Amino acid sequence: MPVAHENEKLKILIRSTAIHKRVVQVACKITRDYKGERVHLVGVLKGACIFLSDLVREINLETSIDFMAVSSYGKKKESSGQVRVLKDLESSIEGLHVIVVEDILDTGLTLSYLLRVLQQRRPASLRIAALLDKPSRRIKPVKGDYVGFQIPNEFVVGYGLDYAERYRNLKDVCVLTLPEGAQ
Ligand code: 5GP
Repeated sequence: MPVAHENEKLKILIRSTAIHKRVVQVACKITRDYKGERVHLVGVLKGACIFLSDLVREINLETSIDFMAVSSYGKKKESSGQVRVLKDLESSIEGLHVIVVEDILDTGLTLSYLLRVLQQRRPASLRIAALLDKPSRRIKPVKGDYVGFQIPNEFVVGYGLDYAERYRNLKDVCVLTLPEGAQ
């Protein structure tokens, strides 16, 4: 069982074995869909770094990777709705088959903003891969092209996802419960 910080509680939602199995399936689908092409994976830091690392190694195509960082929830569990680019891509995506790799698709605010920004740079195609999807929380109509798991409206950590920078290293995806009174 993963070790929780102070009075926080962790409950396993998706085990590492199930995550691995699903990542392989998603990568196989990408390999089939882009047969003969090169795919350019754009990871959204920091949450997607572990998903991207596992995913790219299972894709049997020519690949390249780049990263972007956008403003996150910080120490809070709720989105502010404001998205800011903190780190931009290192190279142009013009003419490339781009897959944006996200840890979780929640309200859709982050990805709808990112897709708008990236579309303006004229990629050959632009799709989304998200490990997790919370469809019940959607504010913007964003749909993941490659989704690992649909999950209920719970705050989750692990496999790259954090709370106040903690728990990214957990192998399983866990539901985090904070002590009474905490944000
Ligand atoms: P959206 O803009 O779709 O609301 O949120 C996307 C970002 O919010 C994700 O990339 C992630 O950083 C954060 N987020 C949304 N739900 C969760 C969650 O359950 N746990 C964690 N750790 N982050 C979340």
